[in-house]
Amino acid sequence: MMTWIAALQAIVTFAYETAHSEWYRQVCADHGIMECPKISSLEDFEMLPVLDRATLNRFAPFKRLSSEVTLVDDIRSTSGTSGQAPLFYLRTTTYRHMAQQLVQAGARRKIYLWGYQHVITHVENDRLAGLQTVICDPQQLMHHLPLVAAMKADTLAGTPSLLLLFGQMLDRLEDRLQIRFLELTGEPARAQTLQALKQVFPLAKVFHHYAMGEMGQETGTRGPNCECQNSGYFHLNPTGIYVENQDGELLVTQLNVPTAFPLIRYKTGDRVDWLGPDRCSCGHDGISFELSGRANVDFVRIAGVELRYEEISAIVATFGDTFAPYTAVEVREHISGGKQQVSLNVIVVPRNQRDNSAYLQQQLSEALFQKLRLSATTRLCDMVKAGYFTRPRITLLPEVPVATKSPGIRFVEQ
Ligand SMILES: [Zn+2]
Repeated sequence: MMTWIAALQAIVTFAYETAHSEWYRQVCADHGIMECPKISSLEDFEMLPVLDRATLNRFAPFKRLSSEVTLVDDIRSTSGTSGQAPLFYLRTTTYRHMAQQLVQAGARRKIYLWGYQHVITHVENDRLAGLQTVICDPQQLMHHLPLVAAMKADTLAGTPSLLLLFGQMLDRLEDRLQIRFLELTGEPARAQTLQALKQVFPLAKVFHHYAMGEMGQETGTRGPNCECQNSGYFHLNPTGIYVENQDGELLVTQLNVPTAFPLIRYKTGDRVDWLGPDRCSCGHDGISFELSGRANVDFVRIAGVELRYEEISAIVATFGDTFAPYTAVEVREHISGGKQQVSLNVIVVPRNQRDNSAYLQQQLSEALFQKLRLSATTRLCDMVKAGYFTRPRITLLPEVPVATKSPGIRFVEQ
């Protein structure tokens, strides 16, 4: 326990007292903490302010540096759903845990299906751990199929749904049998998707990876030998992170100093069901936790893209007064015969119930089909044409539901 406390004190002192940054001092002052907090118990630590994206956004990115700029080796802007994407400063040294686990298991050559700018740092760390990694743009999957044979890839990394798509495109069985390891990250691996993945890659061992891109750190891992294979279950990366469960949301704190941009009691936006000490058949003896989804309801990640509530409701808003200010979105994933398809149902309330409902549904569905963006380069119509999504369904309600959860976007388990 004392080592934890000492590490917590060290990161707080570092954030508060470094000459390079005023930001954490200001955040503390806003909470009535006027000098460097003295942490001698977890209760003391829990008095510290919680950092959320809005708090961080109050400070210009370089004002949040707590070190010389030379410690920064990756600058990243998150996709932030608030509209103002904050920039985060990352160190590179902490992404190696999963790479080391894979190398220990025998992995050597990896294809990473992810946007280049998001994983370039991982690639450097993979190399340091002994993995040769090539990045493939998820929007160009077709063009990268020959790479599996050409580089004798034994490992694929990416979101579960994207790896499934890629596997379904690999026609040659020998290419699929060559894949011995799958590194899943970025979205929860649902039971159906996992089952389909095992059919497509029958020899692959599955490793799960939960990383905090904002921190440049892996927060959790789960290997093929772990006795619990629930989609949200992870072992805390034993080095460099302290975690808390605050009202069901996961808070994380970096412990390693110095760091370019320390995050202390940072709200991850991920919902945690439980968190505690745990001993597992894989040898892990430490903290584990189980995530159950996002704490807010602003987006769903699926099939390698993101469905954002704000973008969907903005398209509904282009219809002026036609609809009451209520939009709910349900996302479903269907897997049949190893093929995956995603559908969304947008639920709205027409103000004038005498409007031609079939016409309204057709107009709104068409607007979403044409305009909805799923990534910087992909629109919904592209994914529908490629057969990964169905055309959006529109459900009209007679009135705004009285007893409703707040409107939002959610994944509906089948
Ligand atoms: Zn385990």
